[in-house]
Amino acid sequence: MTDPLDWLDDALADLNQRGLRRTLTARSGPQRGNLFTIDGQSLVNFGSNDYLGLAADPRIAAAVREAIDKYGWGSGASPLVTGRTDLHAQLEQKLAEFEVTEAALLFPSGYAANVGTITALVGKGDAIYSDELNHASIIDGCRLSGAAVHVYPNEFSAPTRKDDLHHLAKLLNDGRQYRRRLIVTDAIFSMHGTYAPLMGLAKLADEFDTILMVDEAHATGVLGERGGGLCEAAAGGNRGNVRVGTLSKALGSHGGFVAGSKRLIDWLANRARPYVFSTAAPPAAAAAAIAALQIVRNEPERRKRLDELSVELRRRLVIQGTIKPTSLTQIVPVILGEANRTMAAAAQLRSRGFFVPGIRPPSVPEGQSMLRISLTSLHTEQQLDDLVAALAEVVR
Ligand code: PMP
Repeated sequence: MTDPLDWLDDALADLNQRGLRRTLTARSGPQRGNLFTIDGQSLVNFGSNDYLGLAADPRIAAAVREAIDKYGWGSGASPLVTGRTDLHAQLEQKLAEFEVTEAALLFPSGYAANVGTITALVGKGDAIYSDELNHASIIDGCRLSGAAVHVYPNEFSAPTRKDDLHHLAKLLNDGRQYRRRLIVTDAIFSMHGTYAPLMGLAKLADEFDTILMVDEAHATGVLGERGGGLCEAAAGGNRGNVRVGTLSKALGSHGGFVAGSKRLIDWLANRARPYVFSTAAPPAAAAAAIAALQIVRNEPERRKRLDELSVELRRRLVIQGTIKPTSLTQIVPVILGEANRTMAAAAQLRSRGFFVPGIRPPSVPEGQSMLRISLTSLHTEQQLDDLVAALAEVVR
């Protein structure tokens, strides 16, 4: 008898040959913003989204311990049944204040927040306008929704932004027959480190009576004076009818959220399937995020430090000719094109003591594989110096 999964051997071999096969790694010890140990090797970590160095912060660990003592670990049910605790409720209240919206709702992850929100807001007979660089969770939400999906181009950098908005304006103008319409964008594009043209998008959303949904995953805690993300930095906090975020990056915890009007949150709690049908996050994860929000508010120097390091790294890599000046943030891509070449460069960096992930299809389109450097406020000048020197040798 043959095994009906025999085809997997060939499929995996094919991935291998194209440089696209992923293998699992295991970290031992904490996710530190700068140094960590992976598969027994001590490395400088340029691969985490722990932008403010909070994932292993002792104050957050203490808040988690206290919550476990009081609530235990598991939440035991979906939030609408018995999984939602007063800690979840408190965090939702604090997230609404942080985002300057009426209300907020916690999801099991940022992925679930995007998929759940898009599919609850639009469906058959509706249209979505989605930036070509949007995250996979937005793409999957678009696909699942059944709405007509129009992907508008992203030109990677500020000087050409006019072009993609022009394209989007035409799409919106040509699509007045749809019932409901939604523009959806990452705030900071997760692989390229560029910003969405938020004010332009907001203007178009107003003009064409369209919902604007902004995924602040990489911007929460990072952009804006209070760390409120791109909506705060670019628009004083009052843009985007639907704001999505994750607790798992700069906030160093786990879970996703949506912030917006009370009626939006009410609708999502009724109709967003990943909210309704998934178990609530452990109450201790909510406690961690509450502690993180307090640190984000009280320690703006972390944000400032991250920005200084980002500016310096980008400046030096541009001068060295390693990157083009496209990124404006803590995410700095070194685009190498071919997957095998990218993975070889990542391996060489690793042998020199640096963890910089190689990003390949399907995370980026074919031919756009890259080393994705991400910074945290805990990196040192020396670590940056060493990385710049290593990149000069590895990327020629
Ligand atoms: N949106 C964007 C832009 C992301 O980069 C990610 C995570 N990589 C997510 C959403 C998903 O968030 P989470 O990891 O909490 O599922």
